[in-house]
Amino acid sequence: MHIDIITCLPKLLESPFSDSIVKRAIAKGLVKINVIDLRAYATDRHRSVDDYAYGGGAGMVLMVEPIDRCISDLKSRRTYDEVIYMSPDGEPFRQSLANALSLKQNLIILCGHYKGVDERVREHLVTREISIGDYVLSGGELAAAVVTDAIVRLIPGVLSDETSALSDSFQDNLVAPPVYTRPADYKGWKVPDVLLSGHEAKIEAWRHEMALERTRQRRPGLLADNPDEPGNIPAGER
Ligand code: SAH
Repeated sequence: MHIDIITCLPKLLESPFSDSIVKRAIAKGLVKINVIDLRAYATDRHRSVDDYAYGGGAGMVLMVEPIDRCISDLKSRRTYDEVIYMSPDGEPFRQSLANALSLKQNLIILCGHYKGVDERVREHLVTREISIGDYVLSGGELAAAVVTDAIVRLIPGVLSDETSALSDSFQDNLVAPPVYTRPADYKGWKVPDVLLSGHEAKIEAWRHEMALERTRQRRPGLLADNPDEPGNIPAGER
């Protein structure tokens, strides 16, 4: 997979991909992540990529021209499955979308800044808009890092034990069961006996039951096929 991230603040994306699982995925050649400085596509000698908003008001807007030049340049080198714009009013990012994107070959992720990007970018150049939650960040970089991380760990071969992604929260519409490691007894705080039993089927059943119970308690809305689960909390009170 090849991911091109367009940003006017490339420094913000230096560390998220230089450690742990994403770093390993890059080293194994399973993904290539390119951080592209939008300023390289500016047309004036000040390397401006933003300007005042038409109609007035506070806040600068990223201009259409450098973004168009940048995306055109990238597209001259390869075909992209999606040109994604990170935006608070985009489609909410969920595991199901991470799963779908992890199967793609080439992605562009565009980070906005200030007031966002000129609307014509969204109308003519972007194929998909993603939000990482109902709050406003100063720029799309952290959001792009979140999306990239969630996608990359799902690429086959990235996690050493591939089944471990399948047992994470939100796969199967359940949150994950609790996990423990040594020691079995710490200050009298004990690990559940079943996990020490060595009985695989019982452990599996316990984990499934705990995942269900947690989902009922914390995220009843995930149990879509069972909306009348006892303990279901109305949306406004979650
Ligand atoms: N004026 C815009 C917010 C701009 S925030 C509005 O009210 O909708 C600046 C940039 O940060 C955006 O262009 C976007 O790329 C990014 N951003 C902010 N919050 C985000 C979120 N929740 N999800 C994804 N990207 C976000």
